[in-house]
Amino acid sequence: MFDRVLVERLAAETVTKGGIMIPEKSQAKVLQATVVAVGPGSTSKDGKVTPVCVKVGDKVLLPEYGGTKVILEDKDFYNWSDESFEEMDSTLAVQQYIQQNIRSDCSNIEKIMEPPEGQDEGVWKYEHLRQFCLELNGLAVKLQNECHPDTCTQMTATEQWIFLCAAHKTPKECPAIDYTRHTLDGAACLLNSNKYFPSRVSIKESSVAKLGSVCRRIYRIFSHAYFHHRQIFDKYENETFLCHRFTRFVMKYNLMSKDNLIVPILEEEVQSATAGESDA
Ligand SMILES: [Zn+2]
Ligand SMILES: [Zn+2]
Repeated sequence: MFDRVLVERLAAETVTKGGIMIPEKSQAKVLQATVVAVGPGSTSKDGKVTPVCVKVGDKVLLPEYGGTKVILEDKDFYNWSDESFEEMDSTLAVQQYIQQNIRSDCSNIEKIMEPPEGQDEGVWKYEHLRQFCLELNGLAVKLQNECHPDTCTQMTATEQWIFLCAAHKTPKECPAIDYTRHTLDGAACLLNSNKYFPSRVSIKESSVAKLGSVCRRIYRIFSHAYFHHRQIFDKYENETFLCHRFTRFVMKYNLMSKDNLIVPILEEEVQSATAGESDA
């Protein structure tokens, strides 16, 4: 997306030429990487796209710090066969289980939200939120075509709300598309952080508390899309049921207050339900 570049770090030497295994701590940090994907470029206020100057396959040097670490599973989202929960590899089982249910029917929200027996609730919430962020990136890519910094100069939903971007030292008004990108990056950083989420098998209670604030922030992407880019929102929603799923998720686990759920998905459901009753 945007002007971002995905690189794969070159593997560290783990064995000396003589065949001796090097302990992990003594392995030098490799600061070389290969570019594996490049975004189309950044869009300036006047709508001009500045392309990225590296291309796929380029070898690049990395700064020692910075960047967002992404862990890609060797199993592709769409590429694994269905398995029962017990058969799945333990560290990725929950993620795989969630994705499998989404893939089989993304409108079956009850089934997607229902944890397998004995599932740790913190991990269950955490993995769902990771999945929402992943899919929200898909919505952000669609929004890019229409949501430009010169037309959507602020992150707004209804007239009532202007959201400040919390990705900066002092929260500020970022254009909607920048807000979207900064917020998804921030969420990915937090969810991948070793400090708050060192394990995907159990999650500290104090870190579970962070999930609510991530939910509130990323929800604004739905509300901006709904109120300002309705066609894009509807098309994506028809394909993924993402906002429906998210709304049900935050309500089930009390992660957001109902007043903040401003995309009128729930009312629609209530109205159509009552309309159905009166027809009968
Ligand atoms: Zn916009
Ligand atoms: Zn920002």
